[in-house]
Parts: sequence; structure tokens; C-alpha cells
Amino acid sequence: MERLAPTGMSDVPVLSIVIPIYNEEPNIPALLDRLSRCLKDLGLTYEIICVNDGSRDASLARLIDYRQSDSRLKIIDFSRNFGKEIALTAGLDYAQGRAVIFIDADLQDPPELIGDLVSKWREGFEVVYGTRSSRRGDSFLKRLTAHLFYRTLGKMSPLPIPANTGDFRLLDRRAADALKRLPERTRFMKGLFAWVGYRQTAVYFDREPRFQGQTKWNYWKLWNFALDGIISFSLVPLKIWSYLGLIISLISLVYASFLVLRTLILGIDVPGYASLMVAILFLGGVQLISLGVLGEYLGRVYEEVKARPLYLAREVQGFPAPEEQTIDSDL
Ligand code: UDP
Ligand code: MG
Repeated sequence: MERLAPTGMSDVPVLSIVIPIYNEEPNIPALLDRLSRCLKDLGLTYEIICVNDGSRDASLARLIDYRQSDSRLKIIDFSRNFGKEIALTAGLDYAQGRAVIFIDADLQDPPELIGDLVSKWREGFEVVYGTRSSRRGDSFLKRLTAHLFYRTLGKMSPLPIPANTGDFRLLDRRAADALKRLPERTRFMKGLFAWVGYRQTAVYFDREPRFQGQTKWNYWKLWNFALDGIISFSLVPLKIWSYLGLIISLISLVYASFLVLRTLILGIDVPGYASLMVAILFLGGVQLISLGVLGEYLGRVYEEVKARPLYLAREVQGFPAPEEQTIDSDL
């Protein structure tokens, strides 16, 4: 079922810019300045939807200030931190534009590129994503782990998921509506974008370092993000165990026949402590790993069947009939 989408606004903007914001106070003025300048140059009507993802600094106050001078800035204020992917989903739910653009608040995705995204869109592409031609802003370790992640994901997932592509992209209304129909809560956006398909193309850009503040990602979070990505788009980790079990059983069969024959021919041989220990420990380890993998999938299934709303908004500003939209109830 489709989630609630706001309706009833007479003047539908051409572009909806969706910005997830979590403790980005120092970036907000520069971001909104650069963004509105670029959008003015384009000469299209637009709305800017800022999703305040439970910021603990004065980000919300900054946004409210700005909204007083420009009502095209709209605000969704979450009741707590729900994570970037959910923030993007909320922005998408509320966006009304003919195209939706996701952009980070830290100016790592240059607003100046929006013009390029839009011209590709005008050429007829329904999804235009920004791909990093360089990751100047990232450390060596981050580049290495990102590379390994995209490789593993590419090998394991049946869908082609473009590498070095973040969430900076433009979605045509058709693709946006398609994305809204995906109800899952493990929202690995890169994968979901790939899943919806449509005519896609890339625009290349240099990823700048963060303008101000700290990244919200540490390696533990990135690891879990990578697990989410692989598990929601691949069954390979589950299937591997059937094959591994098969191989181990075959080897055991051969070894067992060898032991039986040897016992028959040479008689009973008591020593064997080392081989027994090795076999028990090895198999115990393999079984625990496979249980762990099952658990990863099962836990995610559990998260999905609870079917809680994806997010709760404390308040929304700038959208019609907010009472109806605060809870995403028919998920
Ligand atoms: N963000 C968010 N919720 C979070 C973490 C991040 O809305 O829980 C936003 C953040 O404000 C920024 C974007 O997601 O606009 C990207 O975050 P960040 O720069 O920390 O990630 P990175 O660029 O390092 O991948
Ligand atoms: Mg960033």
C-alpha cells in the first residue's frame, strides 16, 4: 500500500530538495545560501524539505529562522534520531515536486551540480545519481573499506548497484513514487534505488571534505551498514552454508570409510585425541557461524514483521494538513 502523501497543494513545485539533518548547525547557513543561489539560477520552482533527524544542537532553530524569510523551506522534525536513510524516506513521502533531489547537509555533495542533474533529467533519465570520481575528502582507510564493500556487494547481489555512489541523486516523480511503494524498514537506499530500475545515469563529481563538523559514521556503524546492504540484497550468505555442509559431509564420508577400512585391516587403534579435538572444534565453529548468519537474517525478518511506523514526526512545517501526516500509519 502506498504511504500517506500530502495532497491538495495547488502549486506543485518542479523540484523537491530533500536534506537529512543531524547536528549540522554550522553548515546550515552556507548550505541554504549556496543551494538557493543555484536553484535561483536554474529558474525552476522548488521546495526545500529539511528533515531534522533528532539533532541535539540548534539546527532546528536555524531552520525555523530561515523559514521565516523563505516559506519554500519546509521542515519535518523527527521525534528522535531515526537515521539518515529513514530521514530521506520521510522527505520523499512529503515531497511533491516533479523531481526529488537528495543532498547531504555537509556540502559534500555540491549544490552546483543540481543543474547537471536536472539537465540529465530533461534528457529523459528518471534516476540521475552523483558518482564520486574522487574521494579527496576521505581517509585512506575509508577509501579502502568502501572499495572492498562495493566489490563484495557487487559480487553478491543479483542487482547491479553502482559503486562510489551515495544518496546524492535526482529521482523523477515516477521513480520517486516507485520507491515510496517499498515498505521495508532496512532501508539500504543504494540498493533500493537499484531495485526500482528505470532509466538511470550518472553524473561525476569530486567529493569535497565535509564543510564543518564531524561525520556521524564510525567504523562499527559502517560495518553494520555494510551488513544491512549485503543482507537485504543478497541470499548468498544464507546459501553458502548448504554447500559448505555438503562439502564437509563428503569429506567426512571419505574419511569415515578410510577409518573403517583401516580398523578392519589393522585392528583397533586408540590414539586419535588430536584429530577428534580438531574435528569437534572446527565443526562447532562452523555451526556457530552458520547460526550467526541465520540470526542476522532472522533478526531482520523480526524487525520487518513488527511493522512499526518508519518514523514519528514531532511537527511538520509547510505541509498541508499536518495532523494526518505525523504518523505513517498504513505501513
Ligand atoms: N544524517 C542524518 N541522520 C543520522 C546521520 C546523518 O540525517 O543519523 C545526515 C547528516 O546530517 C548529513 C548526511 O546524513 O546531512 C550525511 O552524514 P555524514 O556526513 O555524517 O555521512 P558521510 O558523508 O560521512 O557518509
Ligand atoms: Mg558527509
